[in-house]
Amino acid sequence: MIQRRHVLCCSAALSAGLFTGLDARAGGWRNPCRAALPAELAQHPLLVQAFDDIDPVALWDMHAHLLGTGDSGSGCTVHASMQQWWHPVEVLRRKVLLNAACVAPDAASVDVAYVARLRALASDFPSGARWLLFAFDQACDDRGDVAPQWTTFHVPNTYAAQVAAASPERFGWVASVHPYRHDALERLDATLAAGALALKWLPSAMNIDLRDARCRPFYERLRARRVPLIVHCGEEKAVTGADREAYGNPLRVRAALEAGVTVVVAHAASLGAALDLDRRSQPRRAAFDLWARLMDEPAWRGLLYADLSAVFQVNRRPTVWRTLLQRDDWHARLLHGSDYPLPGVMPLYDPAGLAAEGLLDEAAVAPLRAIRDHNPLLFEFVLKRSVRSGTARLHPLVFDTRRLWAGRGYSALATGGTTR
Ligand SMILES: [Zn+2]
Repeated sequence: MIQRRHVLCCSAALSAGLFTGLDARAGGWRNPCRAALPAELAQHPLLVQAFDDIDPVALWDMHAHLLGTGDSGSGCTVHASMQQWWHPVEVLRRKVLLNAACVAPDAASVDVAYVARLRALASDFPSGARWLLFAFDQACDDRGDVAPQWTTFHVPNTYAAQVAAASPERFGWVASVHPYRHDALERLDATLAAGALALKWLPSAMNIDLRDARCRPFYERLRARRVPLIVHCGEEKAVTGADREAYGNPLRVRAALEAGVTVVVAHAASLGAALDLDRRSQPRRAAFDLWARLMDEPAWRGLLYADLSAVFQVNRRPTVWRTLLQRDDWHARLLHGSDYPLPGVMPLYDPAGLAAEGLLDEAAVAPLRAIRDHNPLLFEFVLKRSVRSGTARLHPLVFDTRRLWAGRGYSALATGGTTR
């Protein structure tokens, strides 16, 4: 059975970071959910300088999750276990995510409160900055039937499209369609016609083998329409076993690349391990290293990208941090993303730890924490603009995320136009 703790790409990070005593770190457990930034913080040099060399209109957050319970008629669902006291870890995860997104326990509607908070956070950014909201399809079994028992969260494409259409100046949306569904291509076409900017798969949790023949028509369509495929690779821990974990192996991404698809590997596969399928003995290696190998293969230069969501969380290795900062030859292929709502899960980020590694000025720690109490999205952006390894920093191009869609026929969207 697919392990639910892998779901939401983010939940991997949650399980790795949340239950291991990290709550003892400064800053506490709970997101204080303060309101808009006070003026003195909004004018703090660290924050002001973070926007130097950044064109807000090109600043698209590649990786933001929509979540809901369906209480507004959105069609969103969460697995029953997240409400059942005899599943304390699942229940805690739901509470943590809702707190990260500042959805009060007594909110009249979880769906509505989630989007309202996201809009409020966005309003602290200069106009033009946008967030790509992820739909999340249900898992399917090998026959292509929906597998509710494996589906922790379901966020319908229609809902993501609807939320984006209500605030086109702030939001775009990313579709999720399981390629094994009996009507998979029809669904894919409908989402593309409705203005989806990309397609997102989480293979290990959704049960998608990137080499399965049913993916091929998808690859053809995505290549022809020049639509990027966002794939979550890696896992949270080097746990051997379940076949589906193997589906998160970055090397499997070659199947899509060989078909000419533009692929964005979420989180640069920065968590977990996978088998090195290029070696006869198939040793286990860091998923990040396998992704790095693909990045250095000349054949994928115009096709393979990664998003930098979640990579500076406490559960990543310092060598990942340093490599991403120092490999400036990759920077034109790295894309800003936040993995919202995870920046609001307090134990997952530790600016003091980055400072101790020499990657952040000590003087930046306190203002970053203060920003985060008000706006985790702004915190995550300023943090990534502030980290450095020696003189190496993330190139401003990393934050010109819109460029991925340049020449892909999305000119209306590039200026915050309609979703079509
Ligand atoms: Zn995510």
